[in-house]
Amino acid sequence: MVKRNKWVAGNWKMNLDYSSALELTNNLVANLPGLNGTSVTLCVPAVYLDALKSIVNKNGLIQLAAQNCHSEDKGAFTGEISAAMLKSMDINQVVLGHSERREYFNESNKFLSEKVFKVLSHGLTPIFCCGEPLSVREENKQNEFVTNQLEESIFHLSAEEVAKVVFAYEPIWAIGTGRTASAEQAQEMHAVIRHFFEQKYGAAVAEKLIILYGGSVNASNAATLFSMPDVDGGLVGGASLQANDFLQIISAAANS
Ligand code: PEP
Repeated sequence: MVKRNKWVAGNWKMNLDYSSALELTNNLVANLPGLNGTSVTLCVPAVYLDALKSIVNKNGLIQLAAQNCHSEDKGAFTGEISAAMLKSMDINQVVLGHSERREYFNESNKFLSEKVFKVLSHGLTPIFCCGEPLSVREENKQNEFVTNQLEESIFHLSAEEVAKVVFAYEPIWAIGTGRTASAEQAQEMHAVIRHFFEQKYGAAVAEKLIILYGGSVNASNAATLFSMPDVDGGLVGGASLQANDFLQIISAAANS
């Protein structure tokens, strides 16, 4: 069995003013535990990326990601940022397809397929989110729903490209609700996702894929979730805004 290193990404969403963002990042850099190969990323508001870069560069152990980007390199898209811009700032990761982008900004699987392609073409790592709403889970159709999202947004990629994507399974009913998927529910879906990729791209690609769980991960439940064989870490919203909580989640990943 392939040993995959863990990943922990904190998604700040549209939170924290400028001085709080600097303070939190300084605190994390100063108190980071031993990582044991765990990757740590802060997905921050784009306006803070440049300032935070000089803080995380102090020890080079934390990466920064944007929370979104457009599918075009430049042009008349007021308010948007491009993968090319991120690359030019030496920002190498970007979240794509978060359920809040899908829901509030009508981002379709097709649009996301164009974004993923563009992000990869610039050599950036997409952190690609998928996950079902509560109504789908209640009908027990979550496997079909999530695999359809992946098929429509990812399956145009080559095996080499897919291997560069980090996936985050985020059941919408667990995001920001305090209602976490059980470790068994997370494991079940992660295994479905890995098997789906295995069918299309083969076992060698599938077994190396990083698949994060997101949805009310916190300092108390992280270790249990991360102990599941197909859960390679977490995409963490609310708990990433508190240094102590986020540091405990990083420790849980590093020790799992
Ligand atoms: C998220 O923002 O992707 C998320 C999972 O949020 P939370 O941890 O707050 O549920």
